[in-house]
Amino acid sequence: MEKFDVIVVGAGLAGLAAAYTLAQEGLEVLVLERGDYAGAKNVTGGRIYLNPIRDLFPDLWEKAPLERFIAHEEVSLMAKGKSITVRYSGEELRQEPYQSYSILRAKFDRWLAKQAERKGAMLVAKSRVDDVIMENGSVVGVRAGGDELRADVVIACDGVLSLTAEKAGLRKPGKPHDFAVGFKEVIELDPAVIEDRFGLEGDEGAARLFMGEVTRGKFGGGFLYTNKESLSLGIVVGVKDLMEGQPEVQAPTLLDDFKLRPEVASLIRGGQTVEYSAHVIPEGGLKSLTKLYGNGILVAGDAAGFSMNIGVTVRGMEYAMASGYYAAQAVLKAREAGQYGASQLSVYEKLLNDSFIMKDFQNFKDVPAALDNPRFFTVYPELATAIMSELYAVGAGPKERIYPTIRKHLTFRQLWDMLGDFRKVRKL
Ligand SMILES: Cc1cc2nc3c(=O)[nH]c(=O)nc-3n(C[C@H](O)[C@H](O)[C@H](O)COP(=O)(O)OP(=O)(O)OC[C@H]3O[C@@H](n4cnc5c(N)ncnc54)[C@H](O)[C@@H]3O)c2cc1C
Repeated sequence: MEKFDVIVVGAGLAGLAAAYTLAQEGLEVLVLERGDYAGAKNVTGGRIYLNPIRDLFPDLWEKAPLERFIAHEEVSLMAKGKSITVRYSGEELRQEPYQSYSILRAKFDRWLAKQAERKGAMLVAKSRVDDVIMENGSVVGVRAGGDELRADVVIACDGVLSLTAEKAGLRKPGKPHDFAVGFKEVIELDPAVIEDRFGLEGDEGAARLFMGEVTRGKFGGGFLYTNKESLSLGIVVGVKDLMEGQPEVQAPTLLDDFKLRPEVASLIRGGQTVEYSAHVIPEGGLKSLTKLYGNGILVAGDAAGFSMNIGVTVRGMEYAMASGYYAAQAVLKAREAGQYGASQLSVYEKLLNDSFIMKDFQNFKDVPAALDNPRFFTVYPELATAIMSELYAVGAGPKERIYPTIRKHLTFRQLWDMLGDFRKVRKL
C-alpha cells in the first residue's frame, strides 16, 4: 500500500494548480486522472481571466499556451429572424498585461500537467477514483480500480459531479436549477480568415455572447471565442429549464440550429469541426457550494461549485486554479501542525473567504435568482429587436416620429414588468 503526502483526484485546472503548488514545496503528490491525459475530458467555453490569478502562479504565464488575448467584447440579443449586436473595443483591453485570453483545454491542461510533473508531482492517467478510504471518520486515501492509495490529505478536484466529495459526505446530489449543460464545437479556420471576419489585428481575439432565441427563450445563451486557428462555439442551457416548461427542446439540436443562424453561419463558413464536447456546469452560486473541507479532505474547483455565470462574464477556470492554490496552501499550513483533521484544514475556508473567490460569490449571490427570469431570454430580445426593426424601416408613406415608434412597443404591463426586473437587477 503506497502512501503519499497528498492525493489529488482529477487533472483539471483545480487539481493541476494544487499539484503544481504542493510539488513546488517538495511534497509527494499523486494526481489521479480518469481521462487518457490531462485535459482529455475537460470542457470550457474558452476564456480565462488572468488578473485574479496572475500573482498566484507568477512563473506560469510567460510560456503558457494561451490562444488570443480578448480585445473585443461582443454581445448579441437574438430574436426570431432578428438580432442586435453590440461590440465593445477598449484601449485598456489592448494593453499588457492582457485581462483575458481564449484558451483550448486539451492544450492548456496538458501543458499545465507537464509543469506540475516538472515540479515533481506524479500524474497517473486512465485511473478513475471510485471511492475514498475512511478510517475513524477521516479520509485516509482513495480506491482507484483495484488499488488502495493512501495520503495525509485528499484534494477532490474531480469536477462538477464530484464523486470523491460525495463519497466523503461533503456533497449532496444537486438540484436541476444548480446546473446548466453546455455543448461545444471547436471549428478550425485559417487565422487570416478569423482575423478578417472578426476585425482582429495579430494576436487580438474577440469574445461574443448570445442571448435570447438561441436557447428558445430558456435560461442560458451561446458563446463564440476566437482562438489562433479555430473558433470555440457553443450553447449553454439551464438544466431546470430543459426539464420543464415549453417549448420542449432537445438540447444538442440547439447548437445545430445556432450554427444555422445567419449571424453565426457567416462567421463559421468554411470551417471544419474538429472537436465536439458536452459538459455540465455548476451555476447555483453561493447557496450551492459544497462543504469545502472535512477530516483529511479538501474540495476545489467545480467539485466545490466554484463556477459563475453573471450574464456578461462566465467564469470557472480562474476560480478552479485559485481554489486549487488555496487548497494547497491549507495543506501546507496543516503540515506545519502535523495534523490533517477538519479543524486544521478549515484554514482553507478562511483563505477562500479572504480571496476574490468568496468575495465574488458573496457579491453575486443574488445572480442565479435574478437571471431565473424568462423575460430576459424572450420578451426583452424580442422587444429590443422589434423597436430596432421599426426605427430603421422606411416605408412608402411618411415615417413615424422616433418617440411614438418606441413608445408603442412599451405597454403599461411591459413597463411594470421592467420596473420589477430592474429592482432585482439592482442587487447584482
Ligand atoms: C460549455 C462550458 C463553457 C464554459 N465557459 C467558461 C469560460 O468561458 N470561462 C471560464 O472561466 N469557465 C468556463 N466554464 C467553466 C470551467 O470550464 C470550469 O469551471 C472549469 O473547467 C473547472 O475546472 P476543474 O478543474 O474544477 O474541473 P474539470 O476541468 O472538470 O476537471 C475535473 C477533472 O477530474 C477528472 N475526473 C472526474 N472524475 C474523476 C474520477 N472519479 N477519478 C479521476 N479523475 C476524475 C476529469 O476527467 C477532469 O480531468 C465553462 C464550462 C462549460 C462546460
